[in-house]
Amino acid sequence: MRVGILAIQGDCDAHAAALRRVGAEPVRVLHEKDLDGLDALVLPGGESTTIAKGLERLALYEPLRAFALAGRPVLGTCAGAILLAREVEHHPVRSLGLVDVVAVRNAYGTQVDSFAAPVDSGAAAGLEGLRCVFIRAPRLRDPGPQVEVLARVEGAPVLLRQGNRLAATFHPELTDDPRVHALLLRGELDPPGC
Ligand code: GLN
Repeated sequence: MRVGILAIQGDCDAHAAALRRVGAEPVRVLHEKDLDGLDALVLPGGESTTIAKGLERLALYEPLRAFALAGRPVLGTCAGAILLAREVEHHPVRSLGLVDVVAVRNAYGTQVDSFAAPVDSGAAAGLEGLRCVFIRAPRLRDPGPQVEVLARVEGAPVLLRQGNRLAATFHPELTDDPRVHALLLRGELDPPGC
């Protein structure tokens, strides 16, 4: 599978390595034509203000929306999750409106703006024990009826799915655990024990 990584700004190299680990070929995306023939797309973490400016400058908002609305899988991590949201609070940026949720930027404050924690018990089958790395992470609130909360940390939703779109407030590309990237590629979680 060929999987695009939006390469305006952010941690593209770590996502490329994570995608290779699950057997996909990473492809940098900077122009609409780069989306041709891709099987899935990653919107990486970084700074959503900078990435949003790049999306505007490169006229990528509508092509990215069309890519997702055509059913191709999209994973947004941290700043990428902010860009997927329907609405952004606390220094709003123009988002893609592809996941029915409100993203609150930098919601963990300055003292604990980076930390790692395991998902709460009760995560979707196959995600048990997933360790999440948060870096100036947003919080996601008010998910709409079509949104599934796949995992929470300390009660807060950290991994959401709306159809073919996944929004993670953490950085799955910064650990060796391939499960979130595998979920992007396969669209489903392995049953426990696999
Ligand atoms: N704080 C960043 C933002 O609001 C996101 C940080 C990240 O992607 N690690 O855009």
